[in-house]
Amino acid sequence: MTARILDGKKLSAEIRASIKEETTLLREKGIVPGLAVVLVGDDPASKVYVGQKEKGCLEAGFASFLHRLPASTTQEELLDLIGRLNGDALVHGILVQLPLPPQIDPDTVLAAIRPEKDVDGFHPVNIGRLVAGLPACEPCTPKGILRLLKSTEIPLAGKEAVVIGRSNIVGKPVALMLLAESATVTVCHSRTRDLAEHVRRADILVAAIGKPRFVTADMVKEGAVVVDVGINRLEEGLVGDVDYGPVSEKASWITPVPGGVGPMTIAMLLENTLEQAKKV
Ligand code: NAP
Repeated sequence: MTARILDGKKLSAEIRASIKEETTLLREKGIVPGLAVVLVGDDPASKVYVGQKEKGCLEAGFASFLHRLPASTTQEELLDLIGRLNGDALVHGILVQLPLPPQIDPDTVLAAIRPEKDVDGFHPVNIGRLVAGLPACEPCTPKGILRLLKSTEIPLAGKEAVVIGRSNIVGKPVALMLLAESATVTVCHSRTRDLAEHVRRADILVAAIGKPRFVTADMVKEGAVVVDVGINRLEEGLVGDVDYGPVSEKASWITPVPGGVGPMTIAMLLENTLEQAKKV
């Protein structure tokens, strides 16, 4: 079997086009969706991500408020900025780019964002709502993964889903979302015994590990849907957590890296911001 490509670039472009149309209508009513992005320090990868988010905002017709703070910023100074953004009616979404410098506790900072403006979906209230199955501002990467899976029109209910990785930003929330779709979910991590045995059962496999080509073809069931979240920078370029060539000979669908999950993350960030602006 040769896998069909789960094309995040194409799907995200469609979603962004419809966001742009909705934004045009909102702007006619005097509402301009606004996203504030806060970047602390000079982490090169963070600068790239923030640049992509700003570009996405401007293309969609949003207002983008970029706050660049020096690496020496104190937690109090950052909390003060967040307090002001929380109260700013022009700002519908607030995103604090992680990682933060060591003097700042990310949990304290994320919890200071008003949950309604938490378009990254990392606030404990939004995570709690996700766990409880209540409407929530959902984290962007897992939300994008679900959107990609649903675009295959393969029913998720009853499927064996295996997630490798249990981070708060990808593994745990995507497992919760798959569970909400009635998949039977297994979450694997660095302490999992016989990981390959679990992975071989997967009808739906989500790899969010951060190790290049970790998932090899012998670990993948014939016909599985494979979502590769990994972004690993090697000399040869970006590679995912899945050994793409051989695995695509066995899977029924597979996301490429780049061009799979990555573009969906930004589309979902814009969608979350638009949703908040529509509630005003
Ligand atoms: P993370 O916080 O480092 O978590 C990695 C997870 O993988 C952990 O749960 C870890 O287990 C598990 N793991 C590590 N080594 C393992 C092993 N040998 N066997 C089984 N599990 C193992 O990473 P993350 O933030 O979730 O990101 C994962 C990858 O996705 C990274 O490459 C990141 O760059 C990428 N990413 C992409 C996007 C996107 O938009 N495309 C967004 C976010 C992240 P333990 O918990 O036991 O340590």
